[in-house]
Amino acid sequence: MTLRWLVALLLAALVPLAQAEPALRVLTTFSILQDFTAQIGGERVAVSTLVGPDEDAHAFDPRASDIRRLKDADLVIRNGLGFDPWIARMVAAARYAGPVVVASQDIAPLSAAHAEDDHAKAGHAHDHDADVDPHAWLDVRNAMAYVRTIAAALAAADPAGTEHYQRNALAYLARLDALDATLKTTFATLPASRRTVVTPHDAFGYFARAYGLTFLAPAGLSNEAAPSARAVAALIEQLRRLKVDRVFIETLTDDRLIQRIGQETGARIGGSLHADALARDGLASTYIGLMTHNLHALSADPVPETR
Ligand SMILES: [Zn+2]
Repeated sequence: MTLRWLVALLLAALVPLAQAEPALRVLTTFSILQDFTAQIGGERVAVSTLVGPDEDAHAFDPRASDIRRLKDADLVIRNGLGFDPWIARMVAAARYAGPVVVASQDIAPLSAAHAEDDHAKAGHAHDHDADVDPHAWLDVRNAMAYVRTIAAALAAADPAGTEHYQRNALAYLARLDALDATLKTTFATLPASRRTVVTPHDAFGYFARAYGLTFLAPAGLSNEAAPSARAVAALIEQLRRLKVDRVFIETLTDDRLIQRIGQETGARIGGSLHADALARDGLASTYIGLMTHNLHALSADPVPETR
């Protein structure tokens, strides 16, 4: 028995990695976690995601094939913080008994500031658990905590790959560290009028705190509930006072009110930002690319400063 195991192990070691079955099948709840996991797992891990690029996690409705994918998974990675509550029901439906890792487990959650004022109740597109902001990945330091958590989870599920995961994680963490430094130095030089950013959905709390910006998101913009006329008028007044010259639209959200606010304040549409999903292709199809896209959109200055 022992000898046969030894022979099997030796044979397994001789099979070139490229032809070998992946050591782990990982299922993530959304595209950004898929990218993190692929960066760390490399060829050892087959990773798929329930909510794909350009798809909205709040509107996710699992199909039978998703339940089958979950049954086949060795490891599930979710965001937590109320972003992907539906995974719990799926785990029960699939009778999945493997590990479920919460990627955000080591970050300090930010309360959803807008839950307190009247525009926020209707504001957000996710039916997440009330007062915690789920968008922690938009602060690169938090993304680095996600990566450490995911690397540890992969090693726990596949101990033979520990060194591989650690090596990939360290290389990726170094790139994230450099990205964080670029974001901080670039935003530090933005003029005051550019530090207030209007977006449709209230996703940039962690990002704003990390990089010294203020985001305003009139609630209801991205879903059925419309903000009150009074709330919109107050926002427009505030933008005029601050001389905000650009407003932003977002992928996955309805931008009609943003367009209107732009017209009424004379601010132009500064570009589109990504928050909750990677893009299917182009620069924002990876996390680092997504953050770089947002950086360029927010800091690029195509109109010469006249003040
Ligand atoms: Zn969101």
